[in-house]
Amino acid sequence: MEFRNLKKQYELNKADFDTAIEDVLKSSRFISGPVVSELESELCDYVGVKHCITCANGTDALEMALRAWNIGEGDAVFVPDFTFFSSGEVVSLVGASPVFVDVYEDTFNINCEKLELMIEKILAESALKPKVIVAVDLFGLPANYPRLREIADKYDMKILEDGAQGFGGSIDGKKVCSFGDISTTSFFPAKPLGCYGDGGAIFTDCDETAALIKSLCVHGKGINKYDNIRIGRNSRLDSLQAAILRVKLKLFIEHELEDVNTCARIYDEMLAASFPEIPLPLRPEGYVSSFAQYTIKLTSKEKRDALQKHLKEKNIPSMIYYVKPMHKQEAFDTSMYDDANYEVTNKLVDTVLSLPMGPYLTREEIDEVVGGMASI
Ligand SMILES: *Cc1c(COP(=O)(O)O)cnc(C)c1O
Repeated sequence: MEFRNLKKQYELNKADFDTAIEDVLKSSRFISGPVVSELESELCDYVGVKHCITCANGTDALEMALRAWNIGEGDAVFVPDFTFFSSGEVVSLVGASPVFVDVYEDTFNINCEKLELMIEKILAESALKPKVIVAVDLFGLPANYPRLREIADKYDMKILEDGAQGFGGSIDGKKVCSFGDISTTSFFPAKPLGCYGDGGAIFTDCDETAALIKSLCVHGKGINKYDNIRIGRNSRLDSLQAAILRVKLKLFIEHELEDVNTCARIYDEMLAASFPEIPLPLRPEGYVSSFAQYTIKLTSKEKRDALQKHLKEKNIPSMIYYVKPMHKQEAFDTSMYDDANYEVTNKLVDTVLSLPMGPYLTREEIDEVVGGMASI
């Protein structure tokens, strides 16, 4: 069994992928070109945002957003403690200070009450200026944007939505990557919408921000890339990946988002029947997840590790996202963080387990996974 079955997606749609790739090879337009702009416009339509700028990967996308806002030394950027490293890495990369915030145990997303306390603490006890909230749509579920927007307004801060795992998710019909002042996503192969290499995108409704980010991604270009009006980067999505993504976006809209949610419901039912004590991944009323991961929680590290070992013996893959809280990553100045503030994340890293997931998972496979858990 595959943890996420990308082979099956290719095999079932081989002709479409092969044609898309061949068309790019025949055109010999490998960088930029019409296919990239076509994809960007389709992504705008789907997400419901005015501008989409594709780039080399989801980490660059986050970095570009912070650079567009001129975030740097002396600025505090608030990031959930339970996330992939990139969400906080980019903050240090631009010279600002990441301030980690604990998450909710049931949604895995940033805890808004603790966020507000942390902002107050930074204002009262440090010289840092609170500037940005990085909200991550962890495992596919949108963060609590209605509440986050109130907090951002109150403290005059911006929201950077890290939608790397959330593409396709929504709150009351409003789509992930439309909640931030700038929102980003990743097209890493295993994400809800992935390509066949690295890729990313940045979304915003603001014309000036979009123009600035377009320039930053292409060597700080002015009129063109040989007219350079600022120091930028080389961060682009190539045409092959764009062509592949156009095929995948169509599949995603036609059936994959629905199918992955069907898989989640089958897991819910089977787990509730066999293991009523295991908390299922919560989707608050009105929220749709794109289920980048289907993640359960056990009651202890011993139980979680035993379950993973047991599944492995049955050739059932599972993953621990994430093994370490951000505030304990040695790349950061860990002395800045008080471990007592991260009670939930400290617990989650010991108890979470992500099970095989994806739109091409079958009922039989889910049955095998849940059956394979029998002895816990
Ligand atoms: C994958 C991921 C990223 C980074 O995306 P890349 O394309 O791998 O650079 C950022 N944030 C989160 C939450 C992710 O899961």
